[in-house]
Amino acid sequence: MQIANETVATIDYTLTNDNGDTLDQSKDGQFCYLHGANNIIPGLEEALLGKSAGDTITVAVDPEDGYGHRDESMLQTVKREMFGTDQEVEVGMQFHAESPQGETLAITVTQVEDDDITIDGNHPLAGINLNFNVTVVDIRVATQEEIEHGHAHGPHDDHHH
Ligand code: ZN
Repeated sequence: MQIANETVATIDYTLTNDNGDTLDQSKDGQFCYLHGANNIIPGLEEALLGKSAGDTITVAVDPEDGYGHRDESMLQTVKREMFGTDQEVEVGMQFHAESPQGETLAITVTQVEDDDITIDGNHPLAGINLNFNVTVVDIRVATQEEIEHGHAHGPHDDHHH
């Protein structure tokens, strides 16, 4: 069986930058996704199409096919009071906010200066060349429910929606 639309693939991946630093990797070597549903970045999804269990591939993904280029207009300075009084604010802290278009954005605190907090709405991996080393562990046909939800359900999946 090969990876195609409406299959769920389990992959073991390691993501490194151009310096060879590991940025991310699959937990316990088991990352599950629904192919063809934009669950993973386009550059990686395209490279996995047609692969079989046991195949190992290395893929270099440019920012265009990854998390996009950095947009400096996504940097903003806000006042500490925006975070509430009992909230500790530190560089590196991440939180989620909704964009005017209704998308969920991951925001990272990049600078704290007295009451001025600089936040960055760029994805932490924006503007970075991504190097994936991926082994395909398993492939199966997606269930009707997974296709309707647009994502894979794990073996111990207990979400209801
Ligand atoms: Zn679901």
